[in-house]
Amino acid sequence: MEYATARNRMVESQLISRGIKDPRVLDAMRKVPRHRFVEEALVSQAYNDHPLPIGEKQTISQPYMVALMTEALELQGQERVLEIGTGSGYQTAILAELAEKIYSIERIRPLSVKAQRILDELGYFNVVLKVGDGTLGLKEEAPFDAIIVTAGSPDVPQPLVDQLSMGGRLVVPVGDRYTQSLMKVVRVKEGITKTDLGGCRFVNLLGTHGWKE
Ligand code: SAM
Repeated sequence: MEYATARNRMVESQLISRGIKDPRVLDAMRKVPRHRFVEEALVSQAYNDHPLPIGEKQTISQPYMVALMTEALELQGQERVLEIGTGSGYQTAILAELAEKIYSIERIRPLSVKAQRILDELGYFNVVLKVGDGTLGLKEEAPFDAIIVTAGSPDVPQPLVDQLSMGGRLVVPVGDRYTQSLMKVVRVKEGITKTDLGGCRFVNLLGTHGWKE
């Protein structure tokens, strides 16, 4: 109950106040127990307005950033979605509330294993987790209606653009190793359109079409 209250407060004060409008996204953020995806010692901070460490030098993103990126994907419920950077699995759970099938790739196996356990415990069975280099996408399951990259990339990874369906949306932070712009790429008949959704700060996307290790 106390967590539900914290979530409602988070939605009002961090999301609605900053312009998040999609009622399905707001409902998912009210529902998914973010505190289950953070370390025991950080549970009291789970609904605060900032990212938190999740081990392996990685982070669970700020709630507002999760909501902003999710809203940009324009999910209606029937989509097949690819996520790059499973991390804690929190964003994966939000996506699982909003679309039909979610594929999520993480390069650090222990994070993927832990995320799988929590997603199973919470009953998110429309999710498939993979371990590997997400900058290559997931050719065997393409095309995707929506793709979300939750790590900062030097450029828009071309394989991900190629794996978008017509009209598909890709959201990816693009910039240098320390600060990025959140880019929304839409696949259209003529090629792609790109919109800058604003500044952000993510851990590095490491891989063939990301930063070198
Ligand atoms: N979405 C996550 C959540 O809700 O907890 C936060 C993800 S964290 C900001 C970024 C993640 O991307 C890290 O776990 C990192 O290991 C992962 N990552 C970085 N490069 C990757 C790649 N090439 N393929 C897959 N995952 C990658």
